[in-house]
Amino acid sequence: MAAAPFKHFLVVSDFDQTLSFNDSGQILSDLLGITDFRQKVDGLASSNLVQQGAELAYLIRHDPAFRGVRREHLAEAGRLASLRSDIPALVEFLKRGLDGFQFSFYVISAAPQEVIQAALAGTVPPDHIVGTEFEYDPDSGEVQSIRRVPAGYGKVAAVEELEERLGISPDRTIYVGDGSSDVHVMLHVNNRDGFTIAVSENRMLARIAQSTVISDSAFSVLIPILERIVGWRSGEIRELFESYALRLHEWEKARTDRVTIVGSSVIQPQIVTPTERGASQAGDAVA
Ligand SMILES: [Mg+2]
Repeated sequence: MAAAPFKHFLVVSDFDQTLSFNDSGQILSDLLGITDFRQKVDGLASSNLVQQGAELAYLIRHDPAFRGVRREHLAEAGRLASLRSDIPALVEFLKRGLDGFQFSFYVISAAPQEVIQAALAGTVPPDHIVGTEFEYDPDSGEVQSIRRVPAGYGKVAAVEELEERLGISPDRTIYVGDGSSDVHVMLHVNNRDGFTIAVSENRMLARIAQSTVISDSAFSVLIPILERIVGWRSGEIRELFESYALRLHEWEKARTDRVTIVGSSVIQPQIVTPTERGASQAGDAVA
């Protein structure tokens, strides 16, 4: 088969409640015995003092209750985070890519870098994680300053930086997120002909995201990617899931894909994908 020109896509995922179930700030607060985290965040949000999603970074730097936060607390919060299932299978699939398609997977989140790195240790390499970066006092270990927060418009900047570094055009950017802190970046990705996927029923996002998938499995975000970008049919998608020992147990196709996946993912050493078997129709099906 003649080699189809490679299409290189940037796949960016949010962390809190997109790859994880809970908010990193809540986990950290529980760890430190801070009981009014939610009220503090709501207060900050209503004042519009900080970009949506940047509340935790602000509190760690400025709220006396968070003064005791050290690097190791952040890593511990990451280890305690409960994650959606099948993240390793998702990462592995994207890393392998498909005939004619290459995917670069990155996590961009306002959660502290240390939290995300610890949560995804061994699955996502640290240099594929863009989180909030703090500077620490070398003596006390206290957070001294905030280097950057990829929240709100900060996420847009982080996406653009990656596109530029990897040489990926904006129409080949795919963004996956769950909440209102993803609104800016999703509007931006849509405006530049990229693709956006919501993994929650957040009302604001549902209107903006081009696709919505509700599932406990992170692997499910491949459904709209394979359907809409790669051009696979349902049968091919089901076959792929089965090759990972996952069964699309319930797949309700409406405006939102609701997916229940049964089994725990097994990454096979080599997968023969339907596109590899079925000539070049996938390449032709892409806009
Ligand atoms: Mg989130």
